[in-house]
Order: sequence, then C-alpha cells, then structure tokens
Amino acid sequence: MRTKIVLRSGKDQSLRRYHPWVFSGAIKKIYGPLSEGDVVDVEDNKGEFLGMGHYAPGSIAIRIISFSRVDADRDFWKQRFVAAYLMRKEMKLAGNPETNAWRLVYGEGDLLPGLIIDYYAGMLVMQFHSVGMYRQRERFAELLREIMGDEIIGIYDKSAATLPFKADIKPRDEWLYGKKQKEAEVLEYGNHFLVNWTEGQKTGFFLDQRENRKLIRRLSKGKEVLNLFGYTGGFSVYALRGGASHVDTVDSSRKAIDLSKINAEINFGKDAPHRGIVADAFDYLEKSGNNYDLIILDPPAFAKHNNVLPNALQGYKRLNEKAFRKIRPGGIIMTFSCSQVVSRENFRKSVFVAAANAGREVKILFQLSQPPDHPVNIFHPEGEYLKGLVLRVG
Ligand code: SAH
Repeated sequence: MRTKIVLRSGKDQSLRRYHPWVFSGAIKKIYGPLSEGDVVDVEDNKGEFLGMGHYAPGSIAIRIISFSRVDADRDFWKQRFVAAYLMRKEMKLAGNPETNAWRLVYGEGDLLPGLIIDYYAGMLVMQFHSVGMYRQRERFAELLREIMGDEIIGIYDKSAATLPFKADIKPRDEWLYGKKQKEAEVLEYGNHFLVNWTEGQKTGFFLDQRENRKLIRRLSKGKEVLNLFGYTGGFSVYALRGGASHVDTVDSSRKAIDLSKINAEINFGKDAPHRGIVADAFDYLEKSGNNYDLIILDPPAFAKHNNVLPNALQGYKRLNEKAFRKIRPGGIIMTFSCSQVVSRENFRKSVFVAAANAGREVKILFQLSQPPDHPVNIFHPEGEYLKGLVLRVG
C-alpha cells in the first residue's frame, strides 16, 4: 500500500487540470509513513484519486508522475524515455549529422519531473532535481542504454549541486556508465563547440539557444557584434559564421571567455575577428558600448523566486535601457530573459519602459522562445522560461 495524501477542500482544482505539482499548503492529511522520494497517492477530501507522484519536503511537496493509478515500474519509465527519444528523432536532433548536442529529457515537459538529461556527442549528462527520480538513477541509466544502444558512450550524473534536500543520500558527480570523458567537441548546425560537462555551468552548454543562435547567423553580415553574457561564445560563433565584421564576447567568467576564444578558433582559425573580454556586462556597455550594430543580451536569471520579481524587472529595464542608449542607429538588439517567474508580458513591458526612457524608436522583428527539445507541457506553464525579442532600433 502506498502512502496516501489527502488535499484540502478546493485544492484539487489544479490537479484536475493536470498541473503536475502539489504545494505543501494544499495538504490536509497524510496516511502512512513518508520519507523524501517516496511515491504517494493523492486524493481529494472526498476520497477520489487524483494522481500519484514523488514526495519531497519542500514548497513543491509532490511532483505528479501519473494522473492514473499505475505501477511505476520499469516499463512505465521506459515508455517515458522512449517517447522523449523518439520526439528528438522526429525533430531531427537525434541522428542528425550536423547537430549532436541536444536535450533528451526536459523534466515536466517530457513527463519526467525532476530530471534533465543532455546529450553531447554520445555522452549523456543527467541532472536530478528530485530524490524520487535520483533513487532510480541506476535503473534509468540501464534503460537509456537499452533504448539508445551505441549512440551512448557514457553516462555522467551531475546532481551534487541540483538535488534540493538529499535526505540520507550524499550525491556525488560521477559516471554511471562508460567512458570517463570530461569534454567533447560537439556540433550544432555544423558549428564546433568544445563542451566540458564536469566544469562548465549547468550541464556544460546552453542548448536552449540553438534556434536563436541560428537566427543570429542570418542577421550578422557585415556587422560589429557585441555578445554580452556570452558564456562560451555560442552566439559569437554563429555571428562569425554569418559574416560579422567583428565580434566581442563579454562575460564575467574567465573560464567562459577562455572557452569562447577556443570556440572561435576551432571554427575560424587564429585570425578570426573575435575578442573575448572578461568584464561585467553593465560596466562594459556603459564604457565601451558605442560601436556596435548588433547587441545580444542573454543574462542569467535575474529572479529565481517570485519575491524578487520587482528587482528582476528593474534589472531587465536597466540593462536594456543601457543597450538602447548605446546601439548605433539602425542597429539590432536580441534580448532575453530566462527567469521562469518573469512572464513574457512582464519582460516585454520592461523592455518597453527601457525603450521609452532611452527615447529610441524600436520595432519588434521576432519574438523568440525555447526549442522543441525543451518542450512545454501545456498544463505546466512554468516550463516555459525562455523569452526573447529581436528589436530594430531607429
Ligand atoms: N548566451 C550564452 C549563455 C549565457 S549564460 C550561450 O548562448 O551559451 C549567462 C552568462 O552570464 C554566464 O556565462 C555568466 O558567467 C555570465 N554573467 C553573469 N553575470 C554577469 C555579469 N554581471 N557580467 C557579465 N557576465 C555575467
């Protein structure tokens, strides 16, 4: 018998609309033993079954894995992984000779809450965000090998920093299978990138910007380009590929900038018109932002929680206003927010205020989002986090 969790009256509505989270405040009573990571049944206060999921002692108390009563056995999980993999095949990511870096599993978007898996030229890099999923990591590694066969050369678990509570487990970053390789040169639309998953940020590369980087290639011919918050130079390589006359990558991380230089070099040689600059993006823009026709703004999430939302919006306004003041007439700004708690509308409003304050004429050319290997479960709008605007500044 699974432990049963009964919800307070009225707190069943979101589950009836298939939203996959139960917040701790919605819980009325717990029947049975309960520890972090257990699979529990959820019922309304009249005894009707609503779903089953993994329990965690946080604000998100239960992450639903199924809205019907099933055995969460090997076959159940295998089906979910097969579905995720086949969708990447259908989207021409898996098995594509030009692109071998993509996200295999995006949490709730793939009905695998609490799990992220990225694929880098044969290496799977897993990040667990829930103990319920983490407890099955060996089983998951085995299933993935079964499904993907020799498309996988290794499986690396990088969850030491992502598991929130950790109960009685001591997660370590370690290989679960295969080659103990730390980095690889991957391909994205034919561009080469050196990705180091053991030392890099997150799983090593920001795969979510793939389609937006591709758009930069189209916009950069003959342009002086500034890539702010550039990390390992993803956008910079595409700008160079598109024929930019010069590209500057700015990031506060020395390691990131070193990699951006390597990436420019492996694609275009030592004489590529690229500079990597270690600096604070705000300072750089203030002091040296005057000479650019194309500016990319891809900052880290300014808000991780709702309570700092006003500060975050202020941050986006400040950053974009600086860029509007600096960019050359006729220039283009590609600006992003990856904060989950900042809505598309709020982000656009911040950029609107920034444009008004700077007194520039601004047109929206493209509205950008995340690619299909970061799918958004329609019942879980929180999964949509990446928002971007391409703006023409008069
Ligand atoms: N555009 C990148 C991803 C950016 S991630 C890509 O496509 O791969 C955000 C980056 O901002 C990180 O590399 C981080 O080191 C950098 N960063 C954070 N705060 C910064 C600041 N104040 N100034 C400059 N860079 C900063």
